[in-house]
Amino acid sequence: MFRMRRRSPPSLGLRKRFQWAVIGAGPAGITAVGKLLDNGVSPRTIVWVDPEFKVGDLGTKWAEVSSNTTVGRFEEFLRSCASFGIDGKDDEFPIFSMDPKSTCLLKEVVEPLRWISDRLSASVVAVRSTVQSVGSEGGAWHVVSAAGELVAGNVVLAVGAQPRLLDHPIPQVSLEEALDPRRLAGAVSREDTVAVFGSSHSAVLAVRNLLNVGVGRVVNFYRSPLRFAVDHGDWILYDNTGLKGVTAQWARSEMPRLPAERLLRVKVDGTRTTKHLAQCTKVVYGIGFEPRKLRVHGAEPKRYDRTTGIIAPGLFGCGIAFPERVVDRAGNVEYNVGLLKFARFLDRVVPVWMGKSGRSERRGVTSVGRPAR
Ligand SMILES: Cc1cc2nc3c(=O)[nH]c(=O)nc-3n(C[C@H](O)[C@H](O)[C@H](O)COP(=O)(O)OP(=O)(O)OC[C@H]3O[C@@H](n4cnc5c(N)ncnc54)[C@H](O)[C@@H]3O)c2cc1C
Repeated sequence: MFRMRRRSPPSLGLRKRFQWAVIGAGPAGITAVGKLLDNGVSPRTIVWVDPEFKVGDLGTKWAEVSSNTTVGRFEEFLRSCASFGIDGKDDEFPIFSMDPKSTCLLKEVVEPLRWISDRLSASVVAVRSTVQSVGSEGGAWHVVSAAGELVAGNVVLAVGAQPRLLDHPIPQVSLEEALDPRRLAGAVSREDTVAVFGSSHSAVLAVRNLLNVGVGRVVNFYRSPLRFAVDHGDWILYDNTGLKGVTAQWARSEMPRLPAERLLRVKVDGTRTTKHLAQCTKVVYGIGFEPRKLRVHGAEPKRYDRTTGIIAPGLFGCGIAFPERVVDRAGNVEYNVGLLKFARFLDRVVPVWMGKSGRSERRGVTSVGRPAR
């Protein structure tokens, strides 16, 4: 059971018990707030906590990255939530006049999302802070942050994920730097031989950026071969794991033509990896993401339900930290990551979280979420 800390943080001065607390204001947190409002939750019963309110990692780290989804899908995402209030704003954001079939830099979708985030945070109770722990006590969730402690019937964790790392003893260039050509130019030189681990969208982009800024050589260590998404019209094979857009084009047409003195691809195995790694002066890890950790008393976030995002009664997860598990038409199991996918997932699960579907509604209480008191 969750024990209150002996030295309690200062009260937020928010005596009211909130119906919902949303933790994290990246794309998933923004969408969770929007969908709660769309489902009739009153804005003043929602508290929203984030240290920055700058559209999460998408806004602060990945803005210069070329997208793997199309402009059309971003547009569909931006219009997927009535509470976003984006209709009628087409002239204000360039993304609405771009070719819907093309891809774009992620900053094009960050710009309207920043506007939406500001709009939503002015309507709900927004708290600029980092949550330290969440715990269940007395039938409610206690959310503790440096700004104080607040109590909510239901909590949505939308805390995002960070790049997974290995621990080779070579100076690291962060994925964040590797995916931002301007920053990368200052982090490497033509004398460097840079190891890039991974074969995903971000690893291939890192390889391309490193070659573009003129490093001496890139050695790309991979476990799985390059995989390309295949659009079948009404479904996409390898939708979450395959290369798409300009990254896929580059990997298909340019990578095979590069001489081994510029780009060497090495399948990871003990001896060969050690031999080639010994020549590398810097390393970039593009091997995926792991959920950000948050202390939760009384529940195990790792064991979340992969279909509904339910962690425990009244505790839910969404976004890249708690992705939905899907099986595509070819039988491949993937985890759904992407803005439109987060929105579609929340369309389906928010009514479930609110207990709007099924027997709980008849009893006037929620079996999944908890009623406000
Ligand atoms: C290389 C790359 C390319 C991508 N391309 C695409 C694309 O083409 N299309 C697409 O749809 N998406 C793309 N994405 C984005 C992808 O969908 C991300 O998964 C998405 O941005 C994740 O959003 P999120 O809200 O789950 O997490 P984040 O953006 O990480 O946001 C999490 C937020 O929670 C806050 N937070 C964390 N811990 C706490 C705490 N304890 N207390 C309070 N706040 C906290 C953080 O400060 C942050 O603001 C790409 C991502 C990458 C890395």
